[in-house]
Amino acid sequence: MGIKIKKAWNTDLKKEISIVQATDEMRKSKQLRCNELNCKAKLTWAERHKINYNLGTKFYRLLPKEKHSLACKYNTEGQVISILKKSNNKIFENISDGKFEFRINLVFEKNFKKESGIGSNVGEAIHKDRNLKERLIKNKGRKSPYLSTMRDIMKLRSEVEENKDLSSLIKLKFNNVSILWKNFYFELEEEENSYKYIKSKGYTSKNRRVMLSQLICSEFVLKKENIKEYKGIYYIESTAPKFVHHNSDNESHIHKVSLKTKESDVAKNLKSLFKNGKTRVNLVGFYQPNILIKPKSYENKNGITVLQHNIEGWINNVEQIVEIESF
Ligand SMILES: [Zn+2]
Repeated sequence: MGIKIKKAWNTDLKKEISIVQATDEMRKSKQLRCNELNCKAKLTWAERHKINYNLGTKFYRLLPKEKHSLACKYNTEGQVISILKKSNNKIFENISDGKFEFRINLVFEKNFKKESGIGSNVGEAIHKDRNLKERLIKNKGRKSPYLSTMRDIMKLRSEVEENKDLSSLIKLKFNNVSILWKNFYFELEEEENSYKYIKSKGYTSKNRRVMLSQLICSEFVLKKENIKEYKGIYYIESTAPKFVHHNSDNESHIHKVSLKTKESDVAKNLKSLFKNGKTRVNLVGFYQPNILIKPKSYENKNGITVLQHNIEGWINNVEQIVEIESF
């Protein structure tokens, strides 16, 4: 429920308690409060584990029926309003009281409005454009108003607990069609969901791929050594989930994110995130995904056939990837 908080005020001890110091006792006796000026909403704490990636987080959250004051930096609606104030109203707009609309397709409009028959089939129009990767996101390396708003939204989404914290506030539109948050933002351990969505909604391209017209966000975990360069292309290979989906005793499925970029500043920026002995970074990327019609398969050391389903895409701008946390 709402933004995950790392520190709280303890009313008995009369001091600020970081999340690592929070105890069961503090939770039971309801001594925890939001420590922002003029807020003091009642808090508790929770833990979440992503066992597939050996990641766990502990955070403070609101007690049921509690609300942060609108000016509090942990108030989700307040955060949405502050993103709105910075943004262009063609991209992000207040459509009614407490309801906002974010247009994912704006990035396409500039590039494809001259093409015919775009309405129902943007994907095909995009596929025909060989220079898409170069033109998709202009102002490489520089800030674009579109990506800057997108980045703020991705950051906020990574700070709240789940899609439903934003779905009641922000309506997503792609080509005037509503997109559900669950089909736009995929957390860690939702790789298979994103794969199935691309497979069911995508169109088949000539190079044996299923392309999705829409852009999506995928969270992934990256190790520094998994950014590799080959012939001018940087390969950003996410860590595969620990547990795989078993179809039968002798067939397993792995779903993972696999991104590419031609921009050396994207690779450089990603490598710079591994500092102070951090070995893994949890990131979220915003990109147009595609999958191979026929996944790669290999036999592992136990004689099991592994089908590797990569969710692939191109990154053209440093602003398409946002850091969530490093470990
Ligand atoms: Zn608050």
